[in-house]
Amino acid sequence: MTAPNDSETFVCDACGRELPMRKMKEVVNDAGETERLCPEDLDKRMNAANEVKGGPGEQKEAAAYVDEAAEEAPYGERDNAD
Ligand SMILES: [Zn+2]
Repeated sequence: MTAPNDSETFVCDACGRELPMRKMKEVVNDAGETERLCPEDLDKRMNAANEVKGGPGEQKEAAAYVDEAAEEAPYGERDNAD
């Protein structure tokens, strides 16, 4: 007997791994975009975030709403050379 739900997979938006759908974690960033992440990348995202709140997800009952830490912009945008 195969449970159809167990064979469903998703691809993590961060690392590109394919994982069972039940491991999928939804993260809503401060732009309101939903990302589908594996548990490891959810941890990373939450650690890097300023603030994390819970809320309803698009596909899951619960999603993590992250407020990205603006002072840690990874692209050096905060380096005001002028
Ligand atoms: Zn991942």
